Amino acid sequence: MTGLTRIGSNVLAGMPLDRAAHLRTDAAWLKARFDDPSTRYIAIWRQNAVVRLGPEPRPVIHYRETLDGLLDEHAEPTLLGVEVENGAAGAAHFVVDLSHVEAGALLARSPGGEMMDLRELVQIVPGPDSALIAYARGLTYWHRRHRFCGACGSPAAALEAGHQRRCTNEDCGAVHFPRTDTAVITLVHDGDECLLCRQSRWPPGMHSTLAGFLEPGESLEECVAREIEEESGVRVGDVRYHSSQPWPFPGTLMVGFMAQALSREIAVDETELEYAHWYKRRDLLGRRDSDEFRLPGRYSISRRLIEDWLAGRIPP
Ligand SMILES: [Zn+2]
Repeated sequence: MTGLTRIGSNVLAGMPLDRAAHLRTDAAWLKARFDDPSTRYIAIWRQNAVVRLGPEPRPVIHYRETLDGLLDEHAEPTLLGVEVENGAAGAAHFVVDLSHVEAGALLARSPGGEMMDLRELVQIVPGPDSALIAYARGLTYWHRRHRFCGACGSPAAALEAGHQRRCTNEDCGAVHFPRTDTAVITLVHDGDECLLCRQSRWPPGMHSTLAGFLEPGESLEECVAREIEEESGVRVGDVRYHSSQPWPFPGTLMVGFMAQALSREIAVDETELEYAHWYKRRDLLGRRDSDEFRLPGRYSISRRLIEDWLAGRIPP
């Protein structure tokens, strides 16, 4: 896991395309790319992507020809970006939402492919491909939940190649942008111990760092201090930024921190946590995953925070 040591290298970040935002309003270019036989399409079906299994699992890439007959008015093609080949713009990539077709109709166009959710996919598909699917899935999720204007309730139509929706009521005209919710996730440490918690809804034995959503009018550092104290009773200071991770389950950015504890006594909010404990570094280093104790998946920022702290890598 050498990639874990590089700041900014969290899994689900590192989407490989040029997002080409300046081309989202170029109607002629978009029309030409949409009809171009070399244009790549990623199909999302009810939040699943199609993956071709084998020694090297990869997402199935479609073309105009392989999706013939399925790209109707419900597909809502959204420009993901363009490949960059030797510094030059290569093939354009669109995501299409095919949730309205029979799963079999899509799989019939995807030989060897099977439907897979991102949580499963991210564990077997290479990082850049997982990041691309996370981006594609995040956009389709947003479109499906923003068909109507939140201000007046009229239908909202996609524009900017699917990166905005505008209310069709001319008296309103509100423009809506893809939404990302901000959450903080924090490894709290004190000497050679760190604070981990458990929620009863997590898989058996899983323990993790504390996390919570940012509220309006709050800085990230204030959010870290509030969430830790609310959930565990522990007060923290010296909050240091570590790294961030897109977490499209369904639409969050996880902002990772490490924070020095200012108090030790634990008093958990039982509506949030089953319990929280201080864990010694040497005990965590020697521990193997079991149904009594395991750390979060290796693709998660929480795992990276824990691994970095165990290795003594604390942000300066
Ligand atoms: Zn409106």
